[in-house]
Amino acid sequence: MRIYNTLTRQKEEFIPIVPGEVKMYGCGPTVYNFMHIGNGRTFIIFDIIRRYFEYRGYKVTFIQNFTDIDDKMINKANDEGITVKELGDKYIKEYYQDADGLQIERATTNPRATEYINDIIKFIEDLIEAGFAYEVDGDVYYSTKKFAEYGKLVGQNLDDLQAGARISVDERKKDPMDFAVWKAKKPNEPAWESPWGLGRPGWHIECSCMAKKLLGDTIDIHAGGMDLKFPHHENEIAQSEAVTGKAFANYWIHAAFVNVDNKKMSKSLNNFFTAREILEEYDADTIRFLMLSGHYRIQINFTKELLDSAKSSIERLYNCINNLDNLKSEVSKKDINDQEIGYLKSLDKYREKFIEKMDDDFNTADAISVLFDLTKDINNNVNINSSIELCEKAEALIRELGKPLGILQNHMKKDLETEIQELIDKRQQARKDKDFALADKIRDDLKNRNIVLEDTPQGVRWKKID
Ligand code: AMP
Ligand code: ZN
Repeated sequence: MRIYNTLTRQKEEFIPIVPGEVKMYGCGPTVYNFMHIGNGRTFIIFDIIRRYFEYRGYKVTFIQNFTDIDDKMINKANDEGITVKELGDKYIKEYYQDADGLQIERATTNPRATEYINDIIKFIEDLIEAGFAYEVDGDVYYSTKKFAEYGKLVGQNLDDLQAGARISVDERKKDPMDFAVWKAKKPNEPAWESPWGLGRPGWHIECSCMAKKLLGDTIDIHAGGMDLKFPHHENEIAQSEAVTGKAFANYWIHAAFVNVDNKKMSKSLNNFFTAREILEEYDADTIRFLMLSGHYRIQINFTKELLDSAKSSIERLYNCINNLDNLKSEVSKKDINDQEIGYLKSLDKYREKFIEKMDDDFNTADAISVLFDLTKDINNNVNINSSIELCEKAEALIRELGKPLGILQNHMKKDLETEIQELIDKRQQARKDKDFALADKIRDDLKNRNIVLEDTPQGVRWKKID
């Protein structure tokens, strides 16, 4: 497998630390608000990476944190007149509701920063002891100058970074690029006891600390949205590598934004759609299809038109599954024959192609076109003369390849009217074909669902009986 590594700026062969295993950390949400569809894309991408590794037989340990203490959390809690803890509890619950709704598998662990305060304090003590951090009046800063490789993730040195940064002058810092790992308590802020007095952790330190605690000194993959590359991930590297003296993460993966009118979808610009409001109108397969239809390193300009077109695309794939489902109840042959075995074998090329595309830095866009080729082939070759077993195996292959993408695992929900009309049409056709057994079966199946058909001079009518 090849992965584009932000750290080296090239695609590299994936070599796990422990053969057959993947240790992955993804930066999760700050839990002060509902997830928007931009955050959703990033979490869907984490999910696909994790699912695909599992599909390829790896044992994946995936940690995604909740940032439940920072300025945004404190301000929102104060606005709402609740504690930061209550705010966190509320939006973690909402996160799970939306993530489940988007068919995102739960991470192995979702650690909350506030549950690791003691470990964070210890981490900071180690940084101070190693000479990488210093205390000023209850705040503790990381000394960027001490870390010779600072800037390696973004590929710039400290001077360039400083020239490009808009940082406020702070007399207390030794260097303008230094950043807080511990912040002294201000009025109306929650705080914890520490060797530097009451205070709270900075944002970057929580990820360094929890990744180390839950996955070890060096992890295989660290993932996050593109906006986290700098300073968040650069700072995580500086902190972790200063303490352990080892590489922090072997592969860095960054997911591109969802934009609206070419601007990043964000809470601050107020140009966002929540995952929840989109899920009211579109199902998770459709939303995921939209996110997958472009490569994860390419930005998506979000529109409802794109969603509508994703909806009709995913329906085309589901139609193939539905046809196979219908065929299973209509075909008369049960067992597969030699010719069908040969045909099924010929479908293996789609699995191989799918893997080839996904192995190439998770190229979901091309992997999806393989799915379309597969369903086209099946639509052309599996029919009323096929065996039940062939229908089942063809369907199983579509679902197998949908699974790592988190799509095609459901039954397409059709509204009742459409479904019944389709069955009535099918019954009429069966009658024309003099296949009275099938026609009767359709009528009886409907009757079992309390739907009765009446033949009238105007055509077939149906009604629901109680
Ligand atoms: P936040 O809740 O703002 O801390 O963001 C949670 C995750 O969503 C981070 O990994 C961000 O990089 C990512 N993210 C935020 N906005 C967007 C966006 N418009 N498109 C894609 N990912 C985003
Ligand atoms: Zn992080």
